[in-house]
Amino acid sequence: SRLIGVLALQGSVQEHEAALRRLGVQVRRVREPRDLEGLAGLVLTGGESTTLRRLMRDGLTDAILQAHAAGLALMGTCAGLILLATTVVEQAEPGQVPAGRDEAGGGLRLLDVTVARNGYGRQTASFEAPVVLHPPLDGEPFPGVFIRAPRIVALGPQVRTLATCDGQPVAVQSGRVLGCAFHPELTEDLRVHGYFVEVLATAGG
Ligand code: GLN
Repeated sequence: SRLIGVLALQGSVQEHEAALRRLGVQVRRVREPRDLEGLAGLVLTGGESTTLRRLMRDGLTDAILQAHAAGLALMGTCAGLILLATTVVEQAEPGQVPAGRDEAGGGLRLLDVTVARNGYGRQTASFEAPVVLHPPLDGEPFPGVFIRAPRIVALGPQVRTLATCDGQPVAVQSGRVLGCAFHPELTEDLRVHGYFVEVLATAGG
């Protein structure tokens, strides 16, 4: 069966592995460039994006970019979405217009979105809310678990919205790159991971 990696530096590694295994996928933990060999997809976990980016410095960022250019599909959840974004802004309070320092992107810059870190507020901003799925995803609302989540504040023209919460995009796709502001690995619902497996299958992985 298909082999998918889970970046195993920080965050909900086990939960992503469990979700993928339930879908019948083989999983490998990724800590260094050679672990990317032979993967069809890679999941970038939640955690703390600044820490993740620092831990990825030893050649892993470049190796992931190379593998992606050669076909590797990527899914980032929460901090993983921040790693994928082209533009990251800091935002301390909910509802505030993103201000402050523009970072040079999340590190990989493969997904043309602007995200505001902690965009739902820093302290009280962990919550569960129903997430409406858009085609090709469908069915009942998805149970969205948001933990100091990034808010997606702008989308490039190639980026499609896969899910919304209160009318705002919370999961997006551009080709073989998926970004998700919430944590699908913390619920039993496998539709987001299932869609990622579909995407990498059609991408030729
Ligand atoms: N707030 C974290 C960050 O900015 C992300 C939180 C998460 O991944 N649950 O990196």
